[in-house]
Amino acid sequence: MSEKSIGKEMLEKLSYKKRNVYEEATSDEIKAIYDYAVGYMKYLDDAKTEREAVVASIKLATNCGYTEYKLGDKVKVGDKKYFNNHGKSLILFRIGENDIEKEGIRILASHIDSPRLDLKQVPMYEDAGMGFLKTHYYGGIKKYQWTAIPLALHGVMIKKNGESVEIVIGEDDSDPVFYINDLLPHLGARQAAEPLGTAISGETLNILIGGLPYNDEEVTEKIKLTALSYLYEKYGVTEEDFLSAELSLVPAYKARNIGFDGALIGAYGHDDRVCSYPALTALLDCQSNERTSMVILADKEEVGSMGLSGMQSDALVDIIDEIAIALGKNPKVVRHHSKCLSADVNAAYDPNFADVYEKRNSALLSCGAVISKYTGARGKSGTSDASAEFVGFVRRLFDENGVIWQSAELGKVDAGGGGTVAMFIANHNIETVDLGVPVISMHAPYEVVSKADVYSTYKACAAFIK
Ligand code: MN
Ligand code: MN
Repeated sequence: MSEKSIGKEMLEKLSYKKRNVYEEATSDEIKAIYDYAVGYMKYLDDAKTEREAVVASIKLATNCGYTEYKLGDKVKVGDKKYFNNHGKSLILFRIGENDIEKEGIRILASHIDSPRLDLKQVPMYEDAGMGFLKTHYYGGIKKYQWTAIPLALHGVMIKKNGESVEIVIGEDDSDPVFYINDLLPHLGARQAAEPLGTAISGETLNILIGGLPYNDEEVTEKIKLTALSYLYEKYGVTEEDFLSAELSLVPAYKARNIGFDGALIGAYGHDDRVCSYPALTALLDCQSNERTSMVILADKEEVGSMGLSGMQSDALVDIIDEIAIALGKNPKVVRHHSKCLSADVNAAYDPNFADVYEKRNSALLSCGAVISKYTGARGKSGTSDASAEFVGFVRRLFDENGVIWQSAELGKVDAGGGGTVAMFIANHNIETVDLGVPVISMHAPYEVVSKADVYSTYKACAAFIK
């Protein structure tokens, strides 16, 4: 019997079920998904800090005809511009022909900072035959995950004369890497009995940087002097230059395929480059001249979005206002009619830790971009909560454009929670909802995503701004 029963027909018509992108994809679509991941994985390797993400993004934008915009510059229809905010965040926009007072600006906002270990300003010392650097962690990390893995040093030092020195050590195969010591299990009984959260303290996240004493009987801290003389020879910097430096330790891992089938990607910093790259490439690939659209690559999301490169800065509103005024429009009306996808990652349901998830309302790996109507914690505290109307609008848009997507919140009620930049954008009277990629082991030194979800997020971003 080939005909469906009435009950089965009714079930298909009336009930909702998540769809798996890979299950529904043709072989051509799977090839497109895998091909797109190649560019993303290169971006991951090129852009491990927000500064590097700004540089890598400008390079991609310049190749697509984008030129630099400085506050105060005039803009006109057809312009494709980027605003480099102190080298740490980036706002890109293209001005379309449509009336922005009527339809506003379509905005994709993501962040390019990731959890890591920053150096303190007076970091260097030696003890017991080893040279070390002191760190202060940045963002929400599980400290035990950062010991006994290879680390790379990234950042800038500003010398006394104002000259800026860029440092990247540990990414090239011929480079040395750095390391955080951990206790051997033979002596680790007491440590093993500690809760995970306190077994490794912040002040033990010290970076091992060497062991060769400087060859001079007259000096005391010989290993430290070897390190300082290396830095002086290679970069012309002194210990005092650490005072005006931003140096970070990030995992010295490259992005790699995960698994026999290569369906997944392992990398440092998926959160939130896995949304930044789709948002950026959707804008750069956009061929329509109708809509005015914008991509924000923000800094400081992992520590609260404060400061001039964070999403709470006035930079976004300043630029929207400048665009509106240049086109002879009322900026307040433009913002009122603008729409934003706050593109940030979500926690993928993990059967290994099922007890913190509520499966029906969790993001499933490979089931597409995730819309989170609200985020927050303890009774939706700290969320902007997108309206049903706006979610309905996005839903129609995705359905019309063949985007497979899912709806989820982060974990069980009261299991924890988290926020995104959505509320800071919505505070400007811009309709905003969260959209992003499900991540396994979020905030770990090596996180995992599905290529299918990355591509689905690209399609979602492209549909939103076209
Ligand atoms: Mn994030
Ligand atoms: Mn995060």
